[in-house]
Amino acid sequence: MCSVPKYIVFEDQLLQLFKRCAISGEDVLEKDLVKKGSALKITTLCKNSHSKEWVSQPNGKRAAARNLLLSGAILFTGNRFSRVSEMASTVNLAFPSEPDYFNWQKAPISSYKCMLAARKSFSPR
Ligand SMILES: [Zn+2]
Repeated sequence: MCSVPKYIVFEDQLLQLFKRCAISGEDVLEKDLVKKGSALKITTLCKNSHSKEWVSQPNGKRAAARNLLLSGAILFTGNRFSRVSEMASTVNLAFPSEPDYFNWQKAPISSYKCMLAARKSFSPR
C-alpha cells in the first residue's frame, strides 16, 4: 500500500475522463460524486443505461487506503492534524475530517507496517 505511487489530481481534470461512457462511448447523462476524506467515488450513467462506478483508492477494512495512510503518516512523522489539515485546506485538497482522523488512527498497528519500515530509514529529528 505504501509503495504504490499516489498523485494529487485536480477534480476538473479527472472529470474529463468521465464525459463518455466506457462501454458505449455515448455521452454520460448523470454523474454522481461521493467524497469521504481524500477518497472520491464517481458513478456515471449513460443514455443506454450503462452504469459505471470508479473509486479513487482501494478500500481497506476500516477506511479507504489513502485516508488511512494520511492518518498514519501524520502520526508517524510527529505532525499534528491541525497543521497538516490547514495546509490541505489552503489549497482545497480533499482531506480527512478531524473525527475521521482520530477514528482511523485506531487502526491496528499492522495497518501501518509499511510506514514503520519506511520510518527506520529516516534520520531522527
Ligand atoms: Zn453506455
